[in-house]
Amino acid sequence: MRLKHLEINGFKSFAKKTSLEFENNIISIVGPNGSGKSNVVEAFRFVLGEQSMKSMRGKGGIDMIFKGSKHIPKGSRASVSIYLDNSDKVFKLTNEAGEYVPLSFDTVSISREVYPDGVNKYILNNSEVRLRDIHQLLSSVNIGTGGHHIISQGEADRILNSSPKDLREIIQGALGLEVYQYRIKESVRKLERTGEN
Ligand code: ATP
Repeated sequence: MRLKHLEINGFKSFAKKTSLEFENNIISIVGPNGSGKSNVVEAFRFVLGEQSMKSMRGKGGIDMIFKGSKHIPKGSRASVSIYLDNSDKVFKLTNEAGEYVPLSFDTVSISREVYPDGVNKYILNNSEVRLRDIHQLLSSVNIGTGGHHIISQGEADRILNSSPKDLREIIQGALGLEVYQYRIKESVRKLERTGEN
């Protein structure tokens, strides 16, 4: 599994479609203060399904959309796509029976769009999916929502100083245990529904 490519369109300061290719294992993005380096990091968070707008320096979905400038009108949506190599077929989804199903695509693409009314769309290889599917897919390759995979400015401190509960979540994310947490939640929901019936 390898990050190949990121496409940002109308997200924050990226008014126009911008593509970043990740051809080497280590990539640096450099630029003057305020040029949008952190916006790139936030684009990663966004497309991976981040729900905390605060962690992307916004209050709502609308803050993710290009606000317009002197020469370019404001955007009608923000969209970010990430392309990951899946030639070794590591990405998996879980079917109704709870079994893992490997994704057959050689490249897995995940896109997220947000509209001014705050509605979000998640797209997996051209098919609209639920956020839950994205979470499940990512946890199959040990990318959790705990955030250990993206360490932003000042965040090493946050990890070192985090509470035992938060630390536990970070470690669980790194170990790929989140998929089991989802399954527990889902099973509890099913039991509740059965109880109601
Ligand atoms: P530093 O080196 O200071 O951390 P940086 O290169 O990481 O800066 P960012 O913080 O990513 O830069 O970018 C901030 C810029 O993005 C600001 O100029 C801000 O106005 C712009 N910006 C943020 N959200 C939007 C938006 N929705 N529409 C247009 N521009 C935006």
